[in-house]
Amino acid sequence: MVNDELSGKERYEKVIAWFRENMPVAETELHYTNAYGLLVAVILSAQCTDKRVNMITPSLLHDFPTPEALAAATPEVIYEYIRSVSYPNNKARHLAGMAKMLVEQFGGEVPGNLEDLIRLPGVGRKTANVIRSVVFNKAAMAVDTHVFRVSNRIGLTNNSKTPLATEKELVKNIPGELIATAHHWLILHGRYICRARTPHCDKCGLQMICNYYCNTRKIREAKEENNRIIAKETNKE
Ligand code: SF4
Repeated sequence: MVNDELSGKERYEKVIAWFRENMPVAETELHYTNAYGLLVAVILSAQCTDKRVNMITPSLLHDFPTPEALAAATPEVIYEYIRSVSYPNNKARHLAGMAKMLVEQFGGEVPGNLEDLIRLPGVGRKTANVIRSVVFNKAAMAVDTHVFRVSNRIGLTNNSKTPLATEKELVKNIPGELIATAHHWLILHGRYICRARTPHCDKCGLQMICNYYCNTRKIREAKEENNRIIAKETNKE
């Protein structure tokens, strides 16, 4: 069955089957030991690499191992630990505010529901869904730039315009027990293979299922055919 003939359901089934076989283990690359540590790491990871965040969190969490400890620190002090991440000023403020709110309103515990999580400074829907799926094992799909791009390219979403639209489409079509893993499948595939500027389609096993690849190939073949016709006509003259 070629790409054009796949129904939406069949495309999902094939993509899931491929990832299950080729990426049986898919987990966050952020290092963490508890919910608080992961929350700190995910806030720091906005527009920054996991590798960079993993270099910073050990000393930060060593000196501020609990929300109570971090809540007692000023943003200026926190800044000194995180100055090498992107947007360190904002993130220092967010971390201080997040810790304070955890202590004052949530008994020092990271909450598990979306409404509470997104009230925390520095926590948007994406970060909240990472915490919900990784820590609380909920069927929550966090849509970051990789998930958004890869889903659109493969054709799991249809020219989705917003992360929320992508999230809804993926949650509707992926079995609940696989949503948390699917989030990591799509992130890791986007990070290492289906890269933003130059996707490594030559190394990708999803070629025949992928809209982007099949459409690009059709355009290339049409151009080559066109060039062949022009060359033939030119030789006749
Ligand atoms: S075939 Fe290319 S565009 Fe499609 S998922 Fe693979 S790397 Fe991405």
